[in-house]
Amino acid sequence: MAKKYILDGVNYGRNLDAYISNNFQYWEFVSSDKAVRLGIKNVPTNAEWKNIEDLVKNVLQPMRDLLGKAITINSGFRCEELNMAVGSSNTSFHRLGCAADIDSDTIPLMDILNAVYGLPKWTEIIAEYFPNGWVHVAYKAGDNRKMLKLKDPTHNFKGVSKEYLDKLYGGK
Ligand SMILES: [Zn+2]
Repeated sequence: MAKKYILDGVNYGRNLDAYISNNFQYWEFVSSDKAVRLGIKNVPTNAEWKNIEDLVKNVLQPMRDLLGKAITINSGFRCEELNMAVGSSNTSFHRLGCAADIDSDTIPLMDILNAVYGLPKWTEIIAEYFPNGWVHVAYKAGDNRKMLKLKDPTHNFKGVSKEYLDKLYGGK
């Protein structure tokens, strides 16, 4: 896929055209239309790149293999400046390169959520603004808490059971 929302002339610390795994390229995790518009250099440290690589290898690629279709990373890493610009919490896993917001034109969000939910290791899944929003997934090495949450105008990061989500949005 062709790169988009990347600042020209910035050293991002990795070859952005290279693949982290079979289906994911480095640029997808630093791409941000807001960062480009505001001139923010959304560049991960080496440790943050390592978190991104762990997220891809342990969660995103296994999920992608289960789904068998392309998915879109809407938001990956956010440097401190970008995280403030989007009004996100400083403790967001995006800040560390441990989270991605996932969307698809062809796969229902509950199918994406189910694919991650069944994996052996993950840290956080948030069903954000279902059924039309996105799936937030986070993986931090050594943190296998498996926190399932729901965020929309009436449920603010409430911890929820899988059964509760299935009841609201359908699923298996
Ligand atoms: Zn997110």
